[in-house]
Amino acid sequence: MRDINKIRADFTILKQKIHGHRLVYLDNSATTQKPQEVINSVVEYYSKMNSNVHRGVHYLGEQTSHAYESVREQVKDFIKAKKTKEIIFTSGTTASINLVAQSFGNKFIKKNDTIIISEMEHHSNIVPWQTLCQNKQATLKIIPFTEDGTLKIGALHNLISDTTKLIALTHVSNVLGTINPIKKIIQIAHNKDIPVLIDGAQAVQHIPINVQDLDCDFFVFSGHKLFAETGVGILYAKEKWLEAMPPYQYGGGMISKVSFEKTTYADVPYKFEAGTSNIAAVISLGKAIQYIKNIGSEAIAKHENELTHYALDQLKTIEGLTIYGHASERCGIISFNLENIHHYDAVKILDSMGIAVRSGTHCAEPVMKHYGITGSLRASMALYNTKEDIDRFIEGIKQVQEMLQ
Ligand code: PMP
Repeated sequence: MRDINKIRADFTILKQKIHGHRLVYLDNSATTQKPQEVINSVVEYYSKMNSNVHRGVHYLGEQTSHAYESVREQVKDFIKAKKTKEIIFTSGTTASINLVAQSFGNKFIKKNDTIIISEMEHHSNIVPWQTLCQNKQATLKIIPFTEDGTLKIGALHNLISDTTKLIALTHVSNVLGTINPIKKIIQIAHNKDIPVLIDGAQAVQHIPINVQDLDCDFFVFSGHKLFAETGVGILYAKEKWLEAMPPYQYGGGMISKVSFEKTTYADVPYKFEAGTSNIAAVISLGKAIQYIKNIGSEAIAKHENELTHYALDQLKTIEGLTIYGHASERCGIISFNLENIHHYDAVKILDSMGIAVRSGTHCAEPVMKHYGITGSLRASMALYNTKEDIDRFIEGIKQVQEMLQ
């Protein structure tokens, strides 16, 4: 990987002192920090280009439309999609899943059908399916996971039946760090002609993605967890589904012709992009992808993997510390609790040392229920984290224990 100090210098926010200490930012699963060139791209867009897309033929309008569509192209290359029109801009992972749940769901899910998700999903990949099932009198089935945070693939075989119409699964658990064997699961599903949606919110920033190789039907992620601005997300879907699915929202931008008698819709992908989107955020996503490409997804994965094992090795030596999730295939997302110490208290003390980690349920209450806990601490890494960050974090935990135990 490029020199880590040079990488860190790209992230202005990391130079800050928090409560008098150098910031150790380990809350990357919630959102990543932005390199200065991504931030600059937003200022530059509003200073030099601001205009609506696909509307005017004036200079600025054309510039903006071109920049916007180039990002669609970049996203296609980044996740190795077959066609540019398979990339839909949304406002984030949650919006992308809701789009599929409502559009695909309304057309293809019927009474007595079944949708399968897993026990380790983020609420955003639970509630849209749960609500759809309630509305359609369909059933939601759950793939359980083992104590070490590995999906019970054997159970999937028993859950799949002739009524199964979709499997929606996270690529990487935002609590356990588990990287699920999605390629294998997609093969199992496709053997029965069942489409699969992959929630890639915690994957794209850590693992190189190839949607054609995975052969997933849908793949969703958020820009803000990938070093871009908030307010942009991606829905990748195979062309055949986008052609078959009805629009999700209606209005400007998604039509071909409108009269009071009849409206016809625009072609894919525009059929799914009603109204004015967050253009600046889309442009920032293009910059962020370029930034990642310059460093290299493989190099990022290797760096984070080393850091994760460096952290895990030390965490395992701390008495009274329980880690949730020990899957052999994992990412740099580590959830844990300290004996007799509330996760919230621990995180507040770590914060006073300039160490940003998260406490709570991480929008994954079923995972908390699995382990019988109210919440946990979570440290999550990104490409700019260092061994020094991990050392400070480990030292911080030891101090919390000394203060509170
Ligand atoms: N899925 C997973 C696995 C996540 O980690 C998150 C964000 N924590 C989401 C979905 C939702 O992402 P967003 O809030 O950006 O829509």
